[in-house]
Amino acid sequence: DWLDAPETQAVLDALTADGSEVRFVGGCVRDAVLKRPIKDIDIATHDPPQVVMALLDDAGIHCIPTGIDHGTVTAVIGKAHYEITTLREDVETFGRHARVAFTDDWTADAARRDFTMNAMFADRQGRVYDPFDGLSDLGAGRVVFVGNPQRRLEEDVLRLLRFFRFHAHYGRPPMNESALAACRRMAHRLVELSGERVAGEFVRLMQAPDPAAVMLVMHGLGILAHVLPEAAAFGRLRVLCWLETRAMVRPGLGIDWLRRLGAVLDTDVAGARTVGERLKMSAVQTARLVSIAAPKVRLDPGMDGPAIRRALRMVGADTFRDLLLVAWAEARAIDGRANSTESARWITLLDECDAWQPVELPVRGADCLELGVPKGPRIGQVLALVDQWWEERDYRPGRDACLARLRELVGQG
Ligand code: ATP
Ligand code: MG
Repeated sequence: DWLDAPETQAVLDALTADGSEVRFVGGCVRDAVLKRPIKDIDIATHDPPQVVMALLDDAGIHCIPTGIDHGTVTAVIGKAHYEITTLREDVETFGRHARVAFTDDWTADAARRDFTMNAMFADRQGRVYDPFDGLSDLGAGRVVFVGNPQRRLEEDVLRLLRFFRFHAHYGRPPMNESALAACRRMAHRLVELSGERVAGEFVRLMQAPDPAAVMLVMHGLGILAHVLPEAAAFGRLRVLCWLETRAMVRPGLGIDWLRRLGAVLDTDVAGARTVGERLKMSAVQTARLVSIAAPKVRLDPGMDGPAIRRALRMVGADTFRDLLLVAWAEARAIDGRANSTESARWITLLDECDAWQPVELPVRGADCLELGVPKGPRIGQVLALVDQWWEERDYRPGRDACLARLRELVGQG
C-alpha cells in the first residue's frame, strides 16, 4: 500500500519524468519485505540534487534541500515525507572520513550502506535488487555488515550502535562473533559521537520489543560503559518490556522508551540528570527520567487503599504508573515466577491509578487569614497540618469539616 499511495506515485512520476531510473532503498524496502509498517520512505536516483529539485518543482511538489552536499532532498506532500538521495559511492577513505562522489552504480551505492538488510533496493513494480544478499540475512535474523566490520566501524562508529539497534528489531541469536569482536575493539571510539546521534540510536534500540537481551550483550562486551555506564538492571528491563507489551494491554501502557530507560538505570537523582544531559534530553524528559530512576515513593503490592492514594497524590498518576510498572518488574525479576496473588495486587494498584482524580485540600490560605493567622510561614504550617489530618481520613472530610479542624488548630496555636 505504501507503494500505491497517490503521494508516492506522484513523487515517482516527477522523478522519472526525465527518463531517470529511481528505486526505493533502505528501511522501507526492509520493512516492506517483512510486511512491517513503514516509517519513512527513502528513494535513490541517478539524478544529482539540483535536477531532483527541478523535477519536483515542475510537478508542483514542495521540496527541501535537507542535505544538498550529501545529495539529499526531501519531498513533502501533506504528511508524507520522501528522502531522495543521489546514488553515491566512497572514492577514498581518509581515516574515518570517506570522500563521497555521485555515481550511477547501484551496487556502489549499496556498498556504502551499513548492513546487508539495509542495502536493498526495490523498483516501483516491487522488484527487489539485493546486491549483498540482504534478503537471506533478513530472513535468518542476521545483521551483517556490508564489507569488513572493523573497517566500516572505523569509517563511522555510529554503526556500532546501529548494529545492536537492528539486532534488537530484526535479529535472532546467535550474534555474529567477528562483528561482535570488531564492536568490542571499537567501543572506545563511541565517546566521539554527539549526544544527539547516540540518543537517536538508543531511543530506537529501546523501542524494540525486548531490548534487554541485546543490552546485556553490549554490557558484557564493555560497550555500554562508554555511552550508558548507569545501565545495570537488565532483568528488570526485560520484565518491564513484557508487562508493557504483552501482559498488560490497557491505556497508558505500550512501548515507552523513556520509562524503559529509567527502569534500566541503576543510579540516583544526579546520575539520572547526567544521563539526560549526555543524551541531550529536554528538561521535561529529564525530569521524567529522574522521577523513574530515583523514585520519591516506593510502591509495593501490600499497600492499602489510603497508602496507594497518598502515593498517587504525591507523584501524580503518570509517575505512579511508571513506578508501579518498574516496581512490579523488579519484584518479578527477583522472584522469577509469576505469583498470581501478587499480580492481582499490582493490577489493583493499576486500577486505582487509572481511576485517580487529583484532590485538593478544600481550605486555603485565605481561610487562615480570616481566622486571624498572620501572613507568613505560619499559614503554610497550619495548612500542612490540616492536609495531613485530611489525608489520614482518605480525603473524605469536606470543606466544613476541614474548616472546623483549621479553627481547632488555630485555637491551639
Ligand atoms: P528506520 O526504519 O529506523 O528509519 P532505516 O534503515 O531507514 O531504519 P535510517 O537511519 O533512516 O535507517 O537510514 C536509512 C538508510 O541509510 C539505512 O537503511 C542505510 O542504508 C543507510 N544508513 C543510515 N545510516 C548509516 C550509516 N551510519 N552508515 C551507513 N549507512 C547508513
Ligand atoms: Mg529510515
